[in-house]
Amino acid sequence: MLTTKLSAAVAVSSSSSTLFLNPQNRFNFSKRIPSVANPSLCNSLRPIVEWSLSKRKMDASASLRAVSPRASAEQLKDPDQLIDSVETFIFDCDGVIWKGDKLIDGVPETLDMLRSKGKRLVFVTNNSTKSRKQYGKKFETLGLSVSEEEIFASSFAAAAYLKSIDFPKDKKVYVVGEDGILKELELAGIQYLGGPEDGEKKIELKPGFMMEHDENVGAVVVGFDRYFNYYKIQYATLCIRENPGCLFIATNRDAVTHLTDAQEWAGGGSMVGAVRGSTQREPLVVGKPSTFMMDYLANKFGISKSQICMVGDRLDTDILFGQNGGCKTLLVLSGVTSLSMLQNPDNTIQPDFYTNKISDFLSLKTAAV
Ligand SMILES: [Mg+2]
Repeated sequence: MLTTKLSAAVAVSSSSSTLFLNPQNRFNFSKRIPSVANPSLCNSLRPIVEWSLSKRKMDASASLRAVSPRASAEQLKDPDQLIDSVETFIFDCDGVIWKGDKLIDGVPETLDMLRSKGKRLVFVTNNSTKSRKQYGKKFETLGLSVSEEEIFASSFAAAAYLKSIDFPKDKKVYVVGEDGILKELELAGIQYLGGPEDGEKKIELKPGFMMEHDENVGAVVVGFDRYFNYYKIQYATLCIRENPGCLFIATNRDAVTHLTDAQEWAGGGSMVGAVRGSTQREPLVVGKPSTFMMDYLANKFGISKSQICMVGDRLDTDILFGQNGGCKTLLVLSGVTSLSMLQNPDNTIQPDFYTNKISDFLSLKTAAV
């Protein structure tokens, strides 16, 4: 199926493999979508199929390059030099801005200082359980003034992606995930089914039992889901395997997440992996480290990617996301990555700089005076 090729191609660019599609040939999501000349075609998935064809041609000509190993990350010593060299900072949230429900020390003052210097601040998270509006409330609760326009959660990315491909109005999305994805699809005017309400459903197997599914489902979106069950796996599998052209979209493939600070918990990648296993299809990933959100942000704000610094606490999502997008990268050690993990000889992902926490932007300056 054509969309399988597309999904596989995007997945290659978003994996932590050392092979990437050449960014020069990277597909521009918002500009190359063929328009539907004949409105009668809107009742099919033709836009998606046409787009897949065009993307497949581009993939065929895209050269694969091996990423040469980077030099070891430098400890940040002169934050002013980094601040002056970019116009936008993209921050991951958990482990950078907050930890669970607690703000990390010095964050408000650091964000204020960057804003006073005219820097654009954007917050990007792979967590799809909340919508942008719900994240806005979390920032507010923590005493931070951040507008919805500055927040990009992978729940929003899934809806933005479907809008960017002119997802047909008469098609529906089956959601394996929580409320955030439903809210964003609703705002985008996209019909959906599934989500939390399928969390209680069970399969009662009896001779000859067959599960029905909606043949109008044109995409399955899979995100982190605390109420994941066999019903959802089977429903998603039927849609992807039996509905022609049905897309398989993942908000992220994170192996682990931090539901509590006592241990690591199975992340969104575990739900995606189950559906991948039953469909033998690669998902199209819209969250980090795929560059979809980076491309979207660069287009929306008209930013050059070399003018962006990505700040995060995870190497395989945040730092890779920044590097895949051609941005500067800063690892903070206030989250899941320790200095020994960064400097482990087996680690191949090296940011440009590392520092303990973002408020080092202030304290290092004070120390330098
Ligand atoms: Mg994080």
